[in-house]
Amino acid sequence: MIRKRWKTGEDWNTYQREWRQRNLERERKHDRERSRLWRKRNPERNRQIRRKTQLTLKHKIINALGGKCGMCGNNDSIVLEVHHKVPLNTKNRQPYKEWRKALKNPESCTLLCANCHIKVHYDMDNKKTEIITATEA
Ligand SMILES: [Zn+2]
Ligand SMILES: [Zn+2]
Repeated sequence: MIRKRWKTGEDWNTYQREWRQRNLERERKHDRERSRLWRKRNPERNRQIRRKTQLTLKHKIINALGGKCGMCGNNDSIVLEVHHKVPLNTKNRQPYKEWRKALKNPESCTLLCANCHIKVHYDMDNKKTEIITATEA
């Protein structure tokens, strides 16, 4: 079948590369479909797996960022959160995605406990209002 579609004169390497590429795409599509169906059939197991992956990721980040709150030194992983020095889009927050981003670029983040994190954002928001009122005045 393959030989039939291959025209003489056509570069064999190019032909093979394209064929492999097409196959890879088909394979990927198939895999995606299969895992989608599996997730649908095993929602509980899927939740467990996802939770485990997320926890592993969280621990990786906590380690990468020094393991404790950058302000008060709290090292309880349950309360530790990642604070992005450059604020991300806050409308649609997805911690898992934020953690992945943080792991790629740890210098752009600080580890904070939930309390200090709230305080930092409170301060940030207050500064923001100050700036706004300053420019408006
Ligand atoms: Zn703290
Ligand atoms: Zn933050």
